[in-house]
Amino acid sequence: MKKIIICLILILPAAFSFAQSWKKLHYNAVLVDTHNDFPSLSIDEHFSFDQDLYGKANSDLARAKKGGLDVQLFSIWCDGDKQNPYAWANREIDSVYEWVSRNPSTMMMVYSPEDLQKAVNEKKFAAMLGMEGGHMIENKLDNLDKLYARGVRYMTLTWNNSPSWATSALDETTKKDSLPHKGLTDFGKQIVKHMNDLGMIVDISHVGEQTFWDAINTSTKTVIASHSCVYNLCPHRRNLKDDQIKAIGKNGGVIQLNFYSGFVDSTYERKQAAFLKLHKSELDSMVKTGAQPDLAVQVLYKQYKKETDGFRPPLSLLIDHIDYIVKLIGADHVGLGSDFDGCESTPLGLDGVEDYPLITKALKQRGYSNEDIVKILGGNFIRVFQEVQKH
Ligand SMILES: [Zn+2]
Repeated sequence: MKKIIICLILILPAAFSFAQSWKKLHYNAVLVDTHNDFPSLSIDEHFSFDQDLYGKANSDLARAKKGGLDVQLFSIWCDGDKQNPYAWANREIDSVYEWVSRNPSTMMMVYSPEDLQKAVNEKKFAAMLGMEGGHMIENKLDNLDKLYARGVRYMTLTWNNSPSWATSALDETTKKDSLPHKGLTDFGKQIVKHMNDLGMIVDISHVGEQTFWDAINTSTKTVIASHSCVYNLCPHRRNLKDDQIKAIGKNGGVIQLNFYSGFVDSTYERKQAAFLKLHKSELDSMVKTGAQPDLAVQVLYKQYKKETDGFRPPLSLLIDHIDYIVKLIGADHVGLGSDFDGCESTPLGLDGVEDYPLITKALKQRGYSNEDIVKILGGNFIRVFQEVQKH
């Protein structure tokens, strides 16, 4: 196992001594993104990852290659109102399996650090699975085992909704007085321990503060935030406060930064509200005809691209979040979890998976060392994956 750590993290930077430009640095690094919602598009829009989806989605296989993306953790997600969330999760996993099986020479499923090394060696796009929301196990440890067996390598304990054993950031802040409990119940703690035993990463994005502290105090293994940003720069309940960031640093974990404009830029929500107010009747009619509200907003954004581009934050604001975490706890604890195909707005220039090189360029311009950039692009997540899989 250690051999792989050395291969991926130490040998790659050595190659950069003769790879001077940021472009070479970018394409030589192993780039990992821990959050992409494409599987939901495969169900809702019948899109396939191996299609050309330029102009229709943030991601597709050809553009992932163009952007130097090597490893994608696809988010397995459904909202809290679905009747059979476990079946829904399996349907989405089936979709990922289909894309991979159709493209055996360019894609592979990755279940272990050894698989990841193999995918990197063979220059195949590594597809991994993360599950966004504990409700999908339907309160059964057995379902957690089955999802692990199918390849799920992290579970976000909650999405915006709360399963009976954990409370979300949304519920802890908006239903403060009506919640039956706050944080993890005994069963919730049992789930975290079971994830530790399985080798499944505990993901604390989306969880409420009490759940965060319960999870980090219960987990005996390293945790991640698969798609979150810094609260002090953008005070949103989905972002992490300084004491949480420090606790993740102490735990050895990684905060994978979300590109969503609303988590990056503190002025975004106000600007978005004004836009949605202006187009309320169109949005309402889309929802009335059966569109999921989140997807309806994404459609509206595409229709009025010029207007919505006007209030996208600059890329430099996203880089500020990286800087903030690096200054607080060091470069070993930050990575990328874009939320592509799961949000309607990202910083200017970051239109899709083809645009990751811009992040490397910006980090270089801010004076980051090649070694730190390689860690941020993927090395940090790979380290956590290896640690959590150790028995
Ligand atoms: Zn999310």
